[in-house]
Amino acid sequence: MSCLILNSDAAPVSLLPLSIVSWEEAIRYLVTDKGTVLEWYDDWVVRSARWQTNVPAVMILKEYQKKKTVIRFSKQNIFLRDEYKCQYCGINVTHRTATLDHVLPQSHGGKSVWDNCTTACSNCNSKKGNNKRIVPQKAPWKPTYWHLVDKRKKLGWELAHPSWANYLE
Ligand SMILES: [Zn+2]
Repeated sequence: MSCLILNSDAAPVSLLPLSIVSWEEAIRYLVTDKGTVLEWYDDWVVRSARWQTNVPAVMILKEYQKKKTVIRFSKQNIFLRDEYKCQYCGINVTHRTATLDHVLPQSHGGKSVWDNCTTACSNCNSKKGNNKRIVPQKAPWKPTYWHLVDKRKKLGWELAHPSWANYLE
């Protein structure tokens, strides 16, 4: 994913997940005149038989898109709510090392819902197994869209291009 897509009001179309598209999609926006390029990758050029262009890093849409402020129940959003910390032992995890843990295990009828799912490192997750008596330090909770945006701001964004920082204030 390479190009940040801004709404016509100059804020990202979406923050969670961040509205970014592949370079192919960005060039499609350009060719179909759906957006205007604000920033380019200086050192990234793509070519076809008939044309060549730098890859857009930031584009602004010509038409306003309605913003969504609903959040999906997803592993990534659970990890974000928990600030990528194991809720049992407190160590930091990454999206690769984090596991989703059901506080009341699924084998005991535990559901995949916000207030039954939490972030665990693989150690704690395997130690816990199907034991419903091992509980996290903080009970899981249902965040709003803005809770998660705050968490994302606190943890920082992954910037594919340094200019993105200017649009993520
Ligand atoms: Zn742990």
